[in-house]
Amino acid sequence: ARVGVVRESNAGERRVALVPKIIAGLLKQGVEVVVEAGAGAGALIPDAAYEAAGARIGDPWSAEVVVKVAPPNDAEVARLSAGQTLIGFLAPRDAVNQIGKLKAAGVQAFAMEAIPRISRAQVMDALSSQANVAGYKAVLVAAQDSTRFFPMLTTAAGTVKPATALVLGVGVAGLQALATAKRLGARTTGYDVRPEVADQVRSVGARWLDLGIDAAGEGGYARELTEDEKAAQQQALEDAIKGFDVVITTALVPGRPAPRLVTAAAVAGMRPGSVIVDLAGETGGNCELTVPGQTVVEHGVTIASPLNLPATMPEHASELYSKNVAALLELMLSEGRIAPDFDDRVLADSCVTREGES
Ligand code: NAD
Repeated sequence: ARVGVVRESNAGERRVALVPKIIAGLLKQGVEVVVEAGAGAGALIPDAAYEAAGARIGDPWSAEVVVKVAPPNDAEVARLSAGQTLIGFLAPRDAVNQIGKLKAAGVQAFAMEAIPRISRAQVMDALSSQANVAGYKAVLVAAQDSTRFFPMLTTAAGTVKPATALVLGVGVAGLQALATAKRLGARTTGYDVRPEVADQVRSVGARWLDLGIDAAGEGGYARELTEDEKAAQQQALEDAIKGFDVVITTALVPGRPAPRLVTAAAVAGMRPGSVIVDLAGETGGNCELTVPGQTVVEHGVTIASPLNLPATMPEHASELYSKNVAALLELMLSEGRIAPDFDDRVLADSCVTREGES
């Protein structure tokens, strides 16, 4: 089979779906790789590096399998035709996704988001690989916007107390944020509505904040809180947040708007100079005062809502994503040909458009 690696077209998207070092393994399996000129440019990977790895520079859109990072736009969908396979983030839960158009075009599409979170599929779990990048970078954004040090400093000019950092929502991104803030010297605390997370929080040297709400849902995700629970949570967090220099929020409920954890009153209660980094901006934000994609200052508190943080670390984000994509691709290859076995749950779940089915 021929695999085409496209140049991403979304503004700010600097990742690429396959990096050169992952290509050798694919070639060994009888796959040919065609890379669009400049596909790696955002990640500072020159075309020559792809050629050296055994790929050809050419038209990726006519390949049997097209691999991408971001969901395709209209123009990109129009470049695909019946019988082709598309692999990428396809935002299958997003109301305005392109899946209907891909289906109408007869394209067999696999959404990286829809890969089941089971042990066997961990190597393909792009939500996790990219959430790790986002969690790490969120802490750097917080440190950058902070008026205070993270670590304790003992200097001739005086002693500085370590910063206190609270992470709300401790999935993959939150756990990485806790670990990163700790490495920078902050005193860390984690909070989630899934009680099983307590041990993971402690394992990265953070304190566990228990507000007495258990909202563990299906498949390791949280369920949405009831109105009463939401009000109780907001009130309890308003009290808890006061003492923190840095708050990083990552709380999400699959298919729902981001839960509102930090009210305007909670922000007003923080010390001026404190920082909130809200990673849930794409689905509306965890903080009432968040402006998705912007950094605002309210009551002296900086509230940053960076979108698509993984794209700001394109080298490692692409490297991890490539590994995820290649593993999924390998699962559907048979003697160099694309032959997905839909009795395999990983392929059945991740395939969002198949001939004759939706
Ligand atoms: P996510 O991005 O969907 O959500 C982030 C966190 O927000 C979750 O921990 C969730 O519990 C929390 N949250 C939701 N509503 C909240 C609220 N009102 N208040 C506070 N916190 C709230 O989560 P994720 O990072 O995708 O991880 C989801 C689960 O999947 C985790 O249990 C993770 O361990 C699991 N997982 C399993 C595998 C695997 O086995 N292959 C791989 C990755 C993740």
